[in-house]
Amino acid sequence: PKTAYVRTKPHLNIGTMGHVDHGKTTLTAAITKVLSERGTGAFVPFDRIDRAPEEAQRGITINIAHVEYETSTRHYAHVDMPGHADYVKNMVTGAAQVDGAILVVSALDGIMPQTAEHVLLARQVGVDHIVVALNKADAVDDGEDAVLTDLVELEVRDLLSEHGYGGDSVPVVRVSGLRALEGDPRWTAAIEALLDAVDTYVPIPERYTDAPFLMPVENVLTITGRGTVVTGAVERGTIRVGDRVEVLGADGGPQTSTVTGVETFGKPMESAEAGDNVALLLRGMPRDAVRRGHVVAAPDSVTPTRRFTAQVYVLSAREGGRTTPVTTGYRPQFYIRTADVVGDIDLGETAVARPGDTLTLTVELGREVPLEPGLGFAIREGGRTVGAGTVTSLLT
Ligand code: GDP
Ligand code: MG
Repeated sequence: PKTAYVRTKPHLNIGTMGHVDHGKTTLTAAITKVLSERGTGAFVPFDRIDRAPEEAQRGITINIAHVEYETSTRHYAHVDMPGHADYVKNMVTGAAQVDGAILVVSALDGIMPQTAEHVLLARQVGVDHIVVALNKADAVDDGEDAVLTDLVELEVRDLLSEHGYGGDSVPVVRVSGLRALEGDPRWTAAIEALLDAVDTYVPIPERYTDAPFLMPVENVLTITGRGTVVTGAVERGTIRVGDRVEVLGADGGPQTSTVTGVETFGKPMESAEAGDNVALLLRGMPRDAVRRGHVVAAPDSVTPTRRFTAQVYVLSAREGGRTTPVTTGYRPQFYIRTADVVGDIDLGETAVARPGDTLTLTVELGREVPLEPGLGFAIREGGRTVGAGTVTSLLT
């Protein structure tokens, strides 16, 4: 029998972000190595993180690798994403909703375009706390190099201040993921210092555990002999075995079911709550009745909607957005929680929206999606993010 998950410490979701090749995956592996030696985690080698085994096994494109570990005070689910496109998609849709992020910057290279983009993205999706891992510090150890590292640190602090992160007070820890992975004591200590910084600097977020249960579906899988399982991060509320739920978002309307199993990282749980990464086994749910983008919620707690008003920021060309204005009739994709749905934009009296503008507009989605005021979303077109918005009111 599987060992049950025992909740002894607060759970937080964190992730690495930063420019390609700056060492995010190496650092992730190094963290698990250092903690496995402390006895509070299992070592996950580089190639198991980078290959995203879930993807291969489930045959579904998720492009997220989750690892799990504990420090002395907290339980973490840590997400590492293979490519820049995965960051954009998973961060803006909330699929990789993190309570704090480790920004990995190579001390050799300094700030690169994706470093800046991920900081901007983190701000847009409401990540309030960033800790910096100034990585590859082993390669810039002495003399002139050390001075350059100081400059990179200043540059990173400036970038963070520019985006409202209070760069002066953000912890910046010089690490070497690679050397720590090799067991070098000096760099192992640096990883411990980084984890201490995360433990103390990233606060435990407020969890709405008493609210009606809601979980956006990230993945659906079938476990032979047991039924259909949906996975995702619990957005709010609490769920336990035996609870009734609704699956919302399908064309045929809500599907009701009973939760017959709750697990986290393969361990059964008595109850899961806001912030947990879980798998829910749904009794009698046909495999094709639920998919990524749907929402599992307490019965009658949310109503799917097609029309809403929103406050939208149209990304400037410098931020990777459009170079030309948007007009009424524009029909991009909307990324809402884990859903990806087409929608028509109506600008009303504002005839055009230029890159860099913030405005209020009306959206009519191609299908019903559970929405509520305050919910964030991204607007994408041809594989790039062109806008970020917040739902302000629901229309009938
Ligand atoms: P990612 O794309 O950000 O996930 O970067 P990876 O973890 O795949 O690392 C990219 C390259 O940098 C690999 O060749 C690593 O071996 C190398 N690397 C990662 N961390 C360090 C480090 O701390 N020191 C040095 N010298 N090289 C590193
Ligand atoms: Mg990587």
